[in-house]
Amino acid sequence: MSNTVFNNVMIYDGTSPERFSGSVRVEENRIMAVARNGESTPAGDARVIDGKGATLMPGLTDVHTHLGFGSSVERINPPGHHPAEFASLIEAHCGRVMLDHGFTSGFSGGSMSVQAELAVKQAFDSGLLPGPRLVTSSFERVPGGPMGPMYKFKGCKARECNPAEVAGFVDEMADLGAQAVKFLLNGVSAFDPGTNMGEQFYDEEVLAAGEAAKARGVLLTAHCYTAHSIKLAIRAGFRTLYHLTYADEESYDAIEANRDKLFVGPAPGIVEADLLRAPRFGVMASEEQVAEQEDAVDRVKVMGRELRKRGIRALPGGDYGFPWNPVGRNARDLELFVEWFGYEPHEVLHAATALGGEAMEMGDELGQIREGFLADMLLVDGDPTKDISVIADKDNLKVIMKDGRLHKGG
Ligand SMILES: [Zn+2]
Repeated sequence: MSNTVFNNVMIYDGTSPERFSGSVRVEENRIMAVARNGESTPAGDARVIDGKGATLMPGLTDVHTHLGFGSSVERINPPGHHPAEFASLIEAHCGRVMLDHGFTSGFSGGSMSVQAELAVKQAFDSGLLPGPRLVTSSFERVPGGPMGPMYKFKGCKARECNPAEVAGFVDEMADLGAQAVKFLLNGVSAFDPGTNMGEQFYDEEVLAAGEAAKARGVLLTAHCYTAHSIKLAIRAGFRTLYHLTYADEESYDAIEANRDKLFVGPAPGIVEADLLRAPRFGVMASEEQVAEQEDAVDRVKVMGRELRKRGIRALPGGDYGFPWNPVGRNARDLELFVEWFGYEPHEVLHAATALGGEAMEMGDELGQIREGFLADMLLVDGDPTKDISVIADKDNLKVIMKDGRLHKGG
């Protein structure tokens, strides 16, 4: 790996609202020098990239990544269960597309195959294949096992409470090596109409999962819509909460009281896609479902503004990977944080970079342009701190660097 110097760039460092003109020197896979006030870092033996005034910024993190669902902007693959060998090829494809669109990190919101996700992580980390850094996850747990396509959510009351079985699942996933374990605490109306509000696990089971996760050092993530699920997940020590569509005042208070421990992914991308594009695929297509989704859009807009007002660590990541919401559209979430939640462009960039590093559990070395940090960076034509839409067009990404390696440009 050679050294690289970016000269003549406007630096967005992940934390300051304003860009500054300067230069960045990368040695191996780390940022070794950042010069300000238009000065240059010593080039020495490094390859020099003239940024021509473009924006140099940290690579993006998506906090709700599904490489295994299978659909990308290049190819639509309906979700399905495949042997781990083929599932890993699907993940590798989607990982490369994600990196092509500037996302150098992904926190998995659930895999289709744990073994596949572990395999691609190894391939991405070693540079064997192009793809983002990954926090790996279990498959998405529903009572009794994994969720198949068009799964029916019966709700917890349809079965006996079994905390030992649920804790055992956490153990099993930890044994396999998954870093995160995902639970669907509520249903999914897109698969089974009218189930978004249904509780799928008993309180005792969720608390048992929390105990097991603490003992095994894995992170718990929750698909949760209802105020009850949100409060319960927080009580059980869940680390990342997704969706939150039907949050109430009490659940916002609980999130705020735990904001140093929690990350949330409001996932506006899937909410928009379920309304605008899913019906073309025969999903969320009935009049009743469209009405439910229109209501969800209104609620999510209110929710995102509330999270911003309360200073919650809300991150982009909108369930990309479904045919109607494919991987590669991930930056749409950044636009929706601005359009729907009232974020300033620099605020959502901070969420997708510096907070992204924290969400990846690498906050002291990832997500900022700063001496000593890992060299995951984008050279972007335009000023995303003023106009977030420039980031959504991959043709504006002139250089994509991950771990000091040039994936694109230069
Ligand atoms: Zn998801």
